[in-house]
Amino acid sequence: MRPVRRRSTETSGGGDFPPDALCPLWFSFLLPVLICVLASTACSKGSSSTPSGNTNGVAAKASAPEPAAASAPAVDPGPLPQIDSKRAFQYIKEIVGFGTRPMGSENHRKLENYITSHLKGDQVEDDVFNVDTVEGKFPVRNIIAKYPGGKDGIIVIVGHYDTVYSLRNDGFVGANDGGSSTAILLEYANQLRGKKRDGYSVWLVWTDGEEAVRQWTQTDSLYGSRHLAEKWEKDGTLKKIKALLVMDMIADADLNIDRDSNSTAWLLDLVYEAAKSSGMQSHFYGATGAIEDDHLPFVKRGVPSADVIDLEYGYNNVFHHTPQDTLDKLSPRSLEIVGNTTLEAIRMLDRR
Ligand code: ZN
Repeated sequence: MRPVRRRSTETSGGGDFPPDALCPLWFSFLLPVLICVLASTACSKGSSSTPSGNTNGVAAKASAPEPAAASAPAVDPGPLPQIDSKRAFQYIKEIVGFGTRPMGSENHRKLENYITSHLKGDQVEDDVFNVDTVEGKFPVRNIIAKYPGGKDGIIVIVGHYDTVYSLRNDGFVGANDGGSSTAILLEYANQLRGKKRDGYSVWLVWTDGEEAVRQWTQTDSLYGSRHLAEKWEKDGTLKKIKALLVMDMIADADLNIDRDSNSTAWLLDLVYEAAKSSGMQSHFYGATGAIEDDHLPFVKRGVPSADVIDLEYGYNNVFHHTPQDTLDKLSPRSLEIVGNTTLEAIRMLDRR
């Protein structure tokens, strides 16, 4: 099975998505959108486990209302944040150079060292543990870098660095899926390092074990984020988190960030406003659907969370979880759009 993170509907492409992974898609392009809205209770496959019960991811491209600006603060008049997208793209190249990087592998260990070697001098913490899976025991390591701010509260940015275990012998290098999320967080670290922050503290989390080892289920997926959410619930950290943003598959040259109906609506709207401030909103929310990703364990615990993901990767999603997930499908420009938008979103959150 390829598409492990499931969405209940898809409205932009109209392709024949695997029916076991998607809501009956044909509703959304054979019938008017209104009918799909009425039938939305039938579109819950893939999101029945989600806490919000928000399973009506049926807004179509043509009819999706522009998110309400009222919920987001006014745009900062200062210069917009700017990441170094060439440097971030170079990180992806180097990460892909390690080869396939599933949980517990030697290449995974090399990547752990690569990440931490880029965080020298930063406040870094590990969340290390073992998991028992259907494929045996694995060591899991979430890497957390903390950049303190003057305001009481934390903004968390999450991105997974493992690649799909079941594809470990198929030449899968996960340039977009695993590579782009790892790289953009390294670039955020560059942007945050050594700067005095008046706003909230920002914590970057490279999560491990996001991918299933065999097939995506509630117990075979999200190993790192489930552990971290539980740990942070116990030690009181969760209460301090003002917002959590997940970066996943964000370097596709054909960038279309989905509006994930499992995410917190006001935070999605804020991200959209952040994109708008640099005129990049056309890359956001053309399609709506329920997506399962590293944000779910936090959503379940009431943390405002948003998944920033472009799940549609190649025509009919042909590059997702295949050996075709390679560097040539990606663009530094996409990293720049998502990177600048995210930094602007942080700035807007700081002012809330
Ligand atoms: Zn994946």
